[in-house]
Amino acid sequence: MSDNRVVEGRMVTPKKLAALVEGESVMDAEPIEDADRDCPECGGDVLSVGYMPSVTEFVTGYKCQDCDWSDREP
Ligand SMILES: [Zn+2]
Repeated sequence: MSDNRVVEGRMVTPKKLAALVEGESVMDAEPIEDADRDCPECGGDVLSVGYMPSVTEFVTGYKCQDCDWSDREP
């Protein structure tokens, strides 16, 4: 199920959220989930999204809902 979420005041799709983390558009993304962590910059809620930046890669992206902080693994 693909649910949109509000990030920095904008409604984003999973692929759009992944693009914010990656810095460019991605091939595919899984549904957005709530990450069990707080933003290290502002203490806000962090979302996670699994996505494929290319056909051979799968990474998990993390993005704060309130500020521009993001991270990715690996
Ligand atoms: Zn933040």
